[in-house]
Amino acid sequence: MIKPSMITPGSTIGILGGGQLGRMMAVAAAQLGYHVIGYSPPGDNVAAEVCHDFFEKGWGDKAALAAFASKCDVVTWEFENVPLSAVAMIPDNLLAPHPRALETAQDRLKEKRFVEGLGGKPAPYMAVDSDQDLARAVERIGAPGILKTARDGYDGKGQWRIGSVREADSVRFPGRPCVYEGMVDFLAEFSVILARGQDGEVRFWDSTANVHSGGMLEVSTLPAGDAVEAQVAEARPIARQTAEALNYVGVLTLEFFATSAGPVFNEMAPRVHNSGHWTIEGAATSQFENHIRAICGLPLGSTATRFETIEMRNIVGSDALTAHEVLAEDTEAHLHLYGKAEAREGRKMGHVTRVGRARA
Ligand code: AMP
Repeated sequence: MIKPSMITPGSTIGILGGGQLGRMMAVAAAQLGYHVIGYSPPGDNVAAEVCHDFFEKGWGDKAALAAFASKCDVVTWEFENVPLSAVAMIPDNLLAPHPRALETAQDRLKEKRFVEGLGGKPAPYMAVDSDQDLARAVERIGAPGILKTARDGYDGKGQWRIGSVREADSVRFPGRPCVYEGMVDFLAEFSVILARGQDGEVRFWDSTANVHSGGMLEVSTLPAGDAVEAQVAEARPIARQTAEALNYVGVLTLEFFATSAGPVFNEMAPRVHNSGHWTIEGAATSQFENHIRAICGLPLGSTATRFETIEMRNIVGSDALTAHEVLAEDTEAHLHLYGKAEAREGRKMGHVTRVGRARA
């Protein structure tokens, strides 16, 4: 067991990355009395609005990273593709979780091998580093399948679906290390989200059923339905072992497919997750608050679900209802808008959480 090192309220938390996850994390931190400083390259850094200070500097700017770190008592991240070279500029003793989690999750192959080594079952996969590898992988694994870049992919980006063996001939190796994986015939998708404290305590939130569209999360619901409920008990120990093997501190997410052969591991995110946004209103303690509590060495809060039914729906691109419409149609709707400047297609602009009757 690690001895908790408490970062007392009033101290400063640094967040690498400036997106909506950082924004919601900063709000939770402020509620607990912490100051937050963000760091991200210039762009639409929507976290900056709710931070005490924000460094809009490049990941390669060593002096800026050092200046940022010198102001922080603990540094975490909201974005899993922060370059490891930038993270290496932050003193190790300030970082939570440990960067080994980032290193593992930034590479799909590493991540699959890691979780497989702990007993998780990913879809059949092969590393692809050339056109010939791709042909071999399709021959061995079969089609349909998905070719994914090993690094830098998210929300379905850097992915090519291959519907049939014949179709594989028209897909070219994109010139970057990839993984080809068999298409999983799933009953449902779900994620296991846990918080692990500095003392090793682990708490899980309930798993929602997650529906994706075009590779991006569309809606998360509770109750999650029979397929998910039957497989959560098998998936949780894999997530727990992953957290323990990484000596992880903070919120960790593992995504699974519920299949007729049990849970199939898809990917992990060493951070708070879109499928956990419902916890802001729907759980006793949100994923954002427990992440802050964990990295600061505070006791974790209860992860109990507060309502009989919960739905979290992403607002994507420009087809959103207006704030007025959302709030007028349901007084139990909670609207979160991230303050992004431009509603580009496929961009997450906000989310709405709707809750049902309170649990007895
Ligand atoms: P990923 O970025 O790998 O999480 O993929 C995004 C979404 O694409 C997943 O949540 C699934 O809906 C779908 N997907 C990805 N990989 C597979 C697979 N091997 N089989 C079936 N669906 C997949």
